[in-house]
Amino acid sequence: MSHEGIRLISQEESRRAAVAEQPLPPAAITPAKVRVALTEGTGLSIDWKDGHRSHWTFPFLRDACPCATCHEEREKTGRRPGELRPAPKQLLPIYTPPARPLEALPIGRYALKFKWADGHESGIYSWDFLRRLDAGLLG
Ligand SMILES: [Zn+2]
Repeated sequence: MSHEGIRLISQEESRRAAVAEQPLPPAAITPAKVRVALTEGTGLSIDWKDGHRSHWTFPFLRDACPCATCHEEREKTGRRPGELRPAPKQLLPIYTPPARPLEALPIGRYALKFKWADGHESGIYSWDFLRRLDAGLLG
């Protein structure tokens, strides 16, 4: 008997899929303290009300941009949010500086937006998105 065409998903995968659709508890998506280290360039740190602490580097956040265009590009290439883009194939590699934001702006009380040095700024990083990103519940 052939098992071809049957996709077995692990218990871990199905658990993650179920969790991904559940709303997160309010304390898990409410920041107690948000620190954007623009000058030092070290990234974004959030202390959540539930005591969890998250940290992301700027290049990771740029590659995890939640805007529709970036989301579609990741879907097409199978890249997970935050996973590095493959380097373009070219004869002479061109140095690309790591992504960094020029500015970080609060959006209401629910999100952050970055103005990236490469000119991109359409991604809205909601607290919910960031907490799921931290927990590996996306993509
Ligand atoms: Zn984007």
